[in-house]
Amino acid sequence: MTIYNFSAGPAVLPKEVLQQAQSELSDWHGSGMSVMEMSHRGKEYMSIHAQAETDLRELMGIPKNYKVLFLQGGAHLQFSMIPLNLMRGKLAADYVNTGEWSKKAMAEAGKFIHVNEVASSADKSFTYVPDFKNWKLDKDAAYVHYCPNETIGGVEFNWIPNTGTVPLVADMSSNILSRPMDVWKFGLIYAGAQKNIGPAGLTLVIVRDDLIGHADPRLPTMLDYKIHADGDSMYNTPPTFAIYMAGLVFQWLKKNGGIGAMERANIAKAELLYATIDASNGFYHCPVNKADRSRMNVPFTLKDSNLDGDFLKQADARGLLQLKGHRSVGGMRASIYNAMPLEGVQALANFMHEFAGKHG
Ligand SMILES: *Cc1c(COP(=O)(O)O)cnc(C)c1O
Repeated sequence: MTIYNFSAGPAVLPKEVLQQAQSELSDWHGSGMSVMEMSHRGKEYMSIHAQAETDLRELMGIPKNYKVLFLQGGAHLQFSMIPLNLMRGKLAADYVNTGEWSKKAMAEAGKFIHVNEVASSADKSFTYVPDFKNWKLDKDAAYVHYCPNETIGGVEFNWIPNTGTVPLVADMSSNILSRPMDVWKFGLIYAGAQKNIGPAGLTLVIVRDDLIGHADPRLPTMLDYKIHADGDSMYNTPPTFAIYMAGLVFQWLKKNGGIGAMERANIAKAELLYATIDASNGFYHCPVNKADRSRMNVPFTLKDSNLDGDFLKQADARGLLQLKGHRSVGGMRASIYNAMPLEGVQALANFMHEFAGKHG
């Protein structure tokens, strides 16, 4: 039976990548060593590290005046590193509140800087993206933070806010590399790796040069972007194996046509799943405003939540795994990141159709 894994994160990785990692697990390229066993200062690992960065820069079109940092601590640590590094003597930062991850970022930043909620979709349970016209931006803000894809609520921006000279900061944990993004429009992009990049343990930060080097001298060394930028993410031991795996994913993306090709595949997958939900005569329901529906995370409920258990059990028996929704919203959630093939979404759509036919 073919298994399709719809986990929100850690999430599915490309089969080919796992197989390649397996084939070189105990002996990387004839070195006689596993990547896990290599000194991070040795020439073998240094080449893996440099290649991963080069490939990522090419894939995303990252301009020269941006640093790529391979860090740890997850997106959660960025919730605090961002205000601590980017406040630059300013009093407040602007935050857009579109759901659970926005709220967490705001709560953490609030420990260090005044947080202005410039827009929110709380009035409709975070089921839409607030119209840019109504954002109450402050031109003196240290930065504007938003979450382009709310992994839990399934709400995704299909546009990039123009914040003028105020740096735009984005938590791209769950939609990085899923669609082209003009990096030059951002001051800082961050993402935990475990959704659309590689295994957990690696956090990616892409930050414009002029935003580095403004931290308070009392800031712990490990929280200062400048230390990591100056040390090419090797100030201390980086998460070497996770970076190696991410590098294999970058090569897989390049081999498969890059991010443009990924976006086309992701659109096809998402359209199929949403069409299945919308054509079910209310048996399935997705609460998210149509224009703002995520291509990566598709939350849906069953008309009769008493059927949730049966749905999950039967899906499991078919090899359709980890469809249970986040505990805060219930129902189901299908995460269909880059590594999920169209066949997986087809199998899910077929199953949903059958299940609704039997129980509708
Ligand atoms: C998963 C996720 C996080 C949390 O990531 P960690 O790496 O566990 O800290 C933050 N933001 C978004 C949008 C996420 O999807």
